[in-house]
Amino acid sequence: MNIHNDQLFWPSTYTEDIQYPVLEENKTCDVLIIGGGMSGALCAYTLGKETDLDVILIDKGKPGYGSSSANSGFLQLSGDQMLHELIEQKGEQDAVYFYQLCQDALEDLKRIAKNVSEESDFSEKKSLYYASTPGEASTLIREYETLKRFDFPVEFFEPQEIASRFPFTKSAALVKNGDAELNPYRFVQTLLKDAEAAGVEIYEQTPLMRKTKNVHGFTCESENGTIQARHIIFATGYENDFLTQQLGATLNRTYSIVTEPLPSLMDQYKEWMIWESKRPYFYMRTTKDGRILAGGLDEEQAEASTKDGLINERVEQILQRVIELFPDGSPEISHSWSATFGESHDGLPYIGEHPNRLGEYYCLGFGKNGTVYNMLGATMIKDLITKGFHPASRLFTIARAARL
Ligand SMILES: Cc1cc2nc3c(=O)[nH]c(=O)nc-3n(C[C@H](O)[C@H](O)[C@H](O)COP(=O)(O)OP(=O)(O)OC[C@H]3O[C@@H](n4cnc5c(N)ncnc54)[C@H](O)[C@@H]3O)c2cc1C
Repeated sequence: MNIHNDQLFWPSTYTEDIQYPVLEENKTCDVLIIGGGMSGALCAYTLGKETDLDVILIDKGKPGYGSSSANSGFLQLSGDQMLHELIEQKGEQDAVYFYQLCQDALEDLKRIAKNVSEESDFSEKKSLYYASTPGEASTLIREYETLKRFDFPVEFFEPQEIASRFPFTKSAALVKNGDAELNPYRFVQTLLKDAEAAGVEIYEQTPLMRKTKNVHGFTCESENGTIQARHIIFATGYENDFLTQQLGATLNRTYSIVTEPLPSLMDQYKEWMIWESKRPYFYMRTTKDGRILAGGLDEEQAEASTKDGLINERVEQILQRVIELFPDGSPEISHSWSATFGESHDGLPYIGEHPNRLGEYYCLGFGKNGTVYNMLGATMIKDLITKGFHPASRLFTIARAARL
């Protein structure tokens, strides 16, 4: 399945050609990570830096070139569901605990982004989450009160406060302090480099083709070599159709654009990231070199579109949304792409050990906040492997999926 159409922005910002070897022998390790995207890279970095375990990571293609290279780079506290909605669905204790875990994961990401060996365009930002229609203002007021009640960092903007900062106004907006952004492709490449320096072995063009369970763990076969591992972590993103179906997840496709730099205009708004409340949503941010990155218009199709006509139509629609908010810019498109986007059946990621296959772990950050979920998954799986326990396991267990 094509999970993106290859016309991406982030890989063009990082031209170093990093090559990892192809596996051509038999190896043994404590932990085998399958997948070298954001999720696998964060697992490799965390296990490599914080444990003495022997870790190997394999990717069937070029690490970092899956969904993580199409990612818009938002790091946010709030995911697909607002806290008050999640409280209705999961109860207050679990919903608030989930938000606290996301806040911790966001802080972990900030710490790592500041400590990695190369800059990844990381900056702390504020998110403006505006009501798309006047009718949605009351929902935002409810969310503001709920977030405040549990001490999450949020402000409420009336229309005049929005108008005083932006060339547009809306009936209401939440302002989330403490969010952040980065260049996801650069971040993944740096995490992998640092993980390798910490002792993790990395192989590219090395697909997992078959695995069998034995008394020592798993025998994992690729095209030219076999890895015997005590534990395996599936960090395979959206590409495993069978797994996606079993978990009851949905795959949609979405569209993104990046403009040519508009530094004088965007300099005024560079501390902001913008989202709307409507679904499918529209969002935008700036890049380090003063471009606008915007996206949305999700469609119920799993495979990324490769049809130029359709992509051009969607690109024009996203551009119009940008111009409606920022009419002074005359933006020109430099990059545009379509990509697959996965969502879980209940808005939470799938993280943890398979209920029937001990030693087999999943780090699948499905949802808008995939990177924060990937970080949460890396920390949780490290604890599950090293301590045999994490208090949040029951919230994210893949056993909650109906079809397992
Ligand atoms: C357009 C778009 C924008 C997004 N924006 C954001 C955002 O702003 N913030 C956010 O938090 N999230 C965002 N997301 C979600 C985010 O991209 C994903 O959650 C996350 O990057 C996925 O990382 P991953 O490692 O799970 O998957 P991937 O990056 O797809 O990595 C999976 C890797 O597994 C490898 N693999 C698969 N099968 C095998 C196999 N059998 N053997 C070996 N290797 C295998 C693949 O080659 C791939 O490299 C966005 C997603 C999209 C599509």
